[in-house]
Amino acid sequence: MKVQCLQVGPIETNCYLLCDEETRACALIDPGDEAGRIAAAVRQSGCEPSVILLTHGHYDHTGGVTELRRTYPGLSVYLNRQDTPAMGAPETLFPAVPNAIHYAEGDTVTVGGLTVRVLHTPGHSKGSVSLLCGTVLFSGDTLFAGSCGRTDFWGGDMEEMLRSLGRLGRLDGDFTVCPGHMETSTLEWERRHNPWMRQAARS
Ligand SMILES: [Zn+2]
Repeated sequence: MKVQCLQVGPIETNCYLLCDEETRACALIDPGDEAGRIAAAVRQSGCEPSVILLTHGHYDHTGGVTELRRTYPGLSVYLNRQDTPAMGAPETLFPAVPNAIHYAEGDTVTVGGLTVRVLHTPGHSKGSVSLLCGTVLFSGDTLFAGSCGRTDFWGGDMEEMLRSLGRLGRLDGDFTVCPGHMETSTLEWERRHNPWMRQAARS
């Protein structure tokens, strides 16, 4: 398993290529912009993308989806239903992702020989999820290195954010944290130093 990060778009969203080196299948996580650059990185990796996994529906995480689907017509796209305009989310912030498969808490998605587990972690948005694969936690805009995502957009809720952070903090063992923006971290470092996660652990 190999993880590669590309920062894309004006808000520097972290798009991840999650590759199964055995089968050469890969997932594209949050391809928020610069679809051409993402496709170039995919070609260079020697992997074939099979799925797009979205941690939430904000435009800066979904902006490259349409173009990547044109490049790779077989791609399935996964998004939690609560982050869709059909569920009342404003289309300016949550552009429609046609024909998305709606994944939810407890679902798993297969990427070649890898299994990605879905944890519903609302707070930044109603439909925010975190994705677990092996020892890597893709935390979207829920958990950032030393911080957490904003809760002042539509569907955001600080109490839910703290519950979600508390839940992530209680996961068994350590994980590499790959967030939706900024640098990577480890869950153990976040448990010790992240003020929001510490507050979540107390409440
Ligand atoms: Zn967001």
